[in-house]
Amino acid sequence: VSDRRSQMRDLVSETRDGQRIFLMGNIEFPQEAEQCEQKGADGIGLYRTEFLYLGRDTIPTEEDHYNAYREVIEGFPNQPITIRTLDLGADKIPGWIRRQYSDDSNPALGLRSIRMSLHDMDMFKTQLRAVLRASVGAQVGIMFPLVSSLLEFRQARLIVREVMEDLEELNIPFNADIALGIMVEVPATVLMAKEFAREVDFFSIGTNDLIQYTLAADRSDPQVAKWHNAADPSIIRMIAMVIEAAKNENIPVSVCGQMSSDPKCVPLLIGMGIRQISVSPHAIPEIKEVIRHLTLEKAEAMAKYVKSQELARDIESYLNRELRKLV
Ligand code: PEP
Ligand code: MG
Repeated sequence: VSDRRSQMRDLVSETRDGQRIFLMGNIEFPQEAEQCEQKGADGIGLYRTEFLYLGRDTIPTEEDHYNAYREVIEGFPNQPITIRTLDLGADKIPGWIRRQYSDDSNPALGLRSIRMSLHDMDMFKTQLRAVLRASVGAQVGIMFPLVSSLLEFRQARLIVREVMEDLEELNIPFNADIALGIMVEVPATVLMAKEFAREVDFFSIGTNDLIQYTLAADRSDPQVAKWHNAADPSIIRMIAMVIEAAKNENIPVSVCGQMSSDPKCVPLLIGMGIRQISVSPHAIPEIKEVIRHLTLEKAEAMAKYVKSQELARDIESYLNRELRKLV
């Protein structure tokens, strides 16, 4: 198996009938970009920049950000890289930041992610300046996490423009055409996907949080793990809504939560219309193998069947059965 998987590296990520599926990597540290390249990915679909803040006790400077982003871009040259702005808070928060905020008893519903960035404008602008500077000559997109209203996206976009004006005034080169997208991981954003699709350059569905908020099941609590289920029909329906909205406005939509690293879910996502997924680096060869065994026709039939089902249990066992037949 490992031999077959290492051969996957140089093979294109496409279905048996030739549908190209862009297979990207999720990374937390800059060095992982090169690993994704070596494993045969098509780019970086999610760079979790908050890891720059974890495991240290000082605030990263603009140069710290800049150097990390250059390392990613140079580690995986000439391919698209999506940099997510800080997703600090809840399960990812260094002690020295926590002390600045009042003790929130419900951190997953608290001042996290884009909310924290818009609250701490200096921190946000420092990061944006570094991303814009590092992106010169590269295919970089900026993605905002946990966006829950249109206004929040507009505010974030406004800050990007302000930072661009500052850089322009100082004659510092930056990438002025950078794409601005959002993570879709809050049910409110799914319900407003049609409106969001008119304003954002791309969607990336974060299923870890989307499942947590839709099914009210803590993503990190093993006691409720069975509630945190990607095969729940409510989740399938939500993803379908986002795909539909993206299709109508002709913007790309990818899936970057754990669901897309799960081999049984990949045929379903493709059958539903997903053409780009972003997965954990270690999963890249296995997922590429699943894609290369699949036909689009089969995937679409699977999606149709799954959409007719009412129970997560039935969807899960169906997807497992089909996966066994596939590989
Ligand atoms: C997600 O929520 O699915 C996601 C990809 O983001 P993170 O896991 O970093 O919260
Ligand atoms: Mg998330």
